[in-house]
Amino acid sequence: MATWKQKNGFQQFTKELEKSSNDKRNYRLIRLHNNLECLLINDKDTDKSSVAMDVKAGHLLDPKELQGLAHFNEHMLFLGTSKYPVENDYQDYLSKNSGYSNAYTDMIDTNYYFTCSTNALKGAVDRFSQFFIAPLFTQSCTQREVKAVDSENKKNLQSDLWRLFQLEKGLSNPPLSNFGTGNWDTLYAEPSLKGMDPREELIKWYETHYSSHLMKLCVFGKESLDELEQLAVENFSAIPQRDIPQPQFSSDVWPRDAYKSIIFAETIKDIRQLALTFTFPEQDAHYNTKPGNFLSHILGYEGKGSLCSYLKQLGYINSLSAGFGFSAPGFEFFKINLDLTSQGIGKWKECLVFIFNYIDMMKRFSDNPPEYLFKETQDLAAIAFRFKEQGQPEKVTSSVARLMQKPYDREHILSGSHVIREYDPQCIKQSLDALSLDNCRVMLAAKDPIEGVGELDQVEKWYGTKYRVDKLPEELLEKINNSSSPPEMHLPHPNDFIPTEFNVEKKDVTEPAVVPTLLRDTNTLRLWHKKDDQWWVPKAHVYVVMRSPAVLESAKASVTTRLFNEILLDEMNEYAYDAECAGFAYSVESTGDGILVHVKGYNDKLTTLLHQIVSTMKNLPIREERFNVIKERIERVYANFSMDAPLMHANVSTYSLTQKAFFTFEERLDAVKQITKGDVEQHAKNLLDRLHMELFVHGNVTDEAAVKISRDVEDVIQPSALSEEERQSLQSSLVPKGDHIYTKHVPNKAQVNSAIEYYNEVGDVADLDLRTKLSLFAQIAHEPAFDQLRTKEQLGYMVFSGVRKSIGAMGFRVLIQSERPPIYLEGRVEEFFNVTIKNLLEEMSEEEFEKSKNSLIEEKLEKPKNLNNEASRLWLELSGGYYDFHRRTNEVESIKKLTKQDIMDFFYTYIHQFSDKRNKLSTHLISQSIPDQYKDLNDASALRSSNIIYDDIASYKNKTVPSTHAHPVAPIAQPAMNN
Ligand SMILES: [Zn+2]
Repeated sequence: MATWKQKNGFQQFTKELEKSSNDKRNYRLIRLHNNLECLLINDKDTDKSSVAMDVKAGHLLDPKELQGLAHFNEHMLFLGTSKYPVENDYQDYLSKNSGYSNAYTDMIDTNYYFTCSTNALKGAVDRFSQFFIAPLFTQSCTQREVKAVDSENKKNLQSDLWRLFQLEKGLSNPPLSNFGTGNWDTLYAEPSLKGMDPREELIKWYETHYSSHLMKLCVFGKESLDELEQLAVENFSAIPQRDIPQPQFSSDVWPRDAYKSIIFAETIKDIRQLALTFTFPEQDAHYNTKPGNFLSHILGYEGKGSLCSYLKQLGYINSLSAGFGFSAPGFEFFKINLDLTSQGIGKWKECLVFIFNYIDMMKRFSDNPPEYLFKETQDLAAIAFRFKEQGQPEKVTSSVARLMQKPYDREHILSGSHVIREYDPQCIKQSLDALSLDNCRVMLAAKDPIEGVGELDQVEKWYGTKYRVDKLPEELLEKINNSSSPPEMHLPHPNDFIPTEFNVEKKDVTEPAVVPTLLRDTNTLRLWHKKDDQWWVPKAHVYVVMRSPAVLESAKASVTTRLFNEILLDEMNEYAYDAECAGFAYSVESTGDGILVHVKGYNDKLTTLLHQIVSTMKNLPIREERFNVIKERIERVYANFSMDAPLMHANVSTYSLTQKAFFTFEERLDAVKQITKGDVEQHAKNLLDRLHMELFVHGNVTDEAAVKISRDVEDVIQPSALSEEERQSLQSSLVPKGDHIYTKHVPNKAQVNSAIEYYNEVGDVADLDLRTKLSLFAQIAHEPAFDQLRTKEQLGYMVFSGVRKSIGAMGFRVLIQSERPPIYLEGRVEEFFNVTIKNLLEEMSEEEFEKSKNSLIEEKLEKPKNLNNEASRLWLELSGGYYDFHRRTNEVESIKKLTKQDIMDFFYTYIHQFSDKRNKLSTHLISQSIPDQYKDLNDASALRSSNIIYDDIASYKNKTVPSTHAHPVAPIAQPAMNN
């Protein structure tokens, strides 16, 4: 049978695509006459549609003299086509139809996707397909949008992730050494100087590399496959096919002297990272046997006998990971990453020896890699695929379009990256052999000078990272070659967590229940339960929050809680790593007023994991060495925060200003230094002796089983009760009437960006009427804010607007990170309200207004997409303390009643700067390196005189009053059980 059937103007793939047995969606693969492959996905119940296009053209194809061109091209495609010339037409259309779009460019792909409401699919596809048929690349946009790219690059300059990524790439052969983001110089100034026209070069590049046969399309909708097919054929057949071959790159990625060398690099943050990179056989060709996944499982294993466990015992590392680095057609990398402790940094040579010892031990098994281990990873992959939960439409289309680029048999497009089909010891051996010193380059990155390392005398070209490259010392190589693994190291033992019980009790349900059942309500515990009634997977979630006033007493108490959590996780790690491999996940974190334990996975064995966490918590042994390592790590986390991006600082500062109890990173850093092991022991006792627990059990679990879980947790912790007052929720600090500005310098002196968070508080989050007005206003203002402040004014790459909610308060905010000073940004935001929004509202037709309402209504009615999704939505209502399970439907009813006048009144009362009723707080993070051309804009006289300016948090907070506590929106039902 032929695998492709000829239709009228296109071909249909005739084989069935292999899919998860949990997957109810329908699929069809077609190939248009221009050789564009397209996967159609029909989901009759979906309330969102999505389309993604993956183009096999990334920054490895950038011309040498125009670095960043592939990325810049991605930006430009959004900004107008012959058919839809208006530059924000696409975004505007999506925003009015409950949708959004995104895109990314990496080394070999550029990936575009959008989502929208189901009835808007046709219009969105019409706009989207034009990117690949007739983009305009308007001259005026070109110059402006280079600035967006330039700002995007400046955002990355102080990020170690980007700096180290480019350092390693830059020390490789071209085109791997390319600078993928690009900036003003590479995309505009320098090409112009050389007599090139940047726009013409862009068009030339696009017309060379954007060809239909290198694109993969994925269309997801509620329409039938026949209808989706017609939509694809009609809209995408006109994409030109050009005469270019599939991109292929040389496997000769490094210069000769890079092998067996070590790069020493200086970081911005206090991190200590040892990374080994190996050139590795290309894995796509072995997708049926996945030898690389198998090796990364063993090397990255964290249970007993593992490399990770061994190095942790020695106190050298905090964590270890192993797996694929980046790859392209022609080459592949395998990476081992170590996060070193302060002790480990001086022992990097020993770490290298142990890593190679472990690999050597694996090789001794390599003639016969233990089949039980392989079988285990194969079984786990099969189980995970069988019960794979259905993803969000835009996540599915974006990732599937990318996977379609892989050389999988076409019937394996959906399964190829998951399923392991065969055991091929020969192939495993070949991959394992590649993990040798001869194929390796090492990088050691740290903030402070490393003992025994010469001066970092080189500077990386794009990010300014200081570094030096040495050969690995001979005596180290000898030591590696002449030592063998210590007896404590061994391969993983069989995994006891592999689930075996997959029964799902399925019953007929007309409508899934919206409200979980309250099963128990005692003075120390409240138990909520919802038996799964729509997903039918053998999985469950258990949330346990333990609330105690002891958590919030002081910065020291809050940090001690965090230390306690981290010590617990550390203690659990070896035991629970098997559970993670088997598809379970767990977390322990501070919630502000308590500790939240969350476990999820197959309901079979989930309770075993939860029991272990809770009993470890109750009897946590705190060992001096581990305590010191963890304390040092947390100290660094707080200290490193000062090097974070300005926008992050603006955000956290606003949070400190608007929460009644919140400790700044500076306060926490001071606190952590004083904490002793004894403090944590005492604190743990205080915390666990008296508390209130709230549990939520959701999924394939009966109510009897849920009750049993709660009794088990209770029996282990055995708490006594809190008083009524101690059980009250947290509170916000309300923004006082008038205009307030809090200013602070960006701590990182080399950071050229400043940031602003401009926040208008409107009232209590429990006020339904006001809440829906706020969300409709935010919906109307969202796209114009981006269009005006980012695309038109090019203030910076990071521009956001939206609703901000906390207990007892809510408001509208605009966030901008920019090279311009915050005083100037403050003015631009107010101008945006006074001109753009004012005109928009005044000129808005009734019909447009209704459209905005409908778009918001659809967003509110969006159904959860899987068990995970539903669980986190319900938990949000439970943990927030409002128990507003009917929130969405109530909001929809309230939105329906809103008139345009309501929104105008809302705007002039709460948002507009001339209102005398508004409560505005803006947080200004001022760069210490404002670029010269913007220094004049840092002029305080430009601020409206009504503003009161604060430079410390306390003097502002003295003027605030606390909000109400969270309280249930309706009386809580009687529990099903008496105790
Ligand atoms: Zn970008």
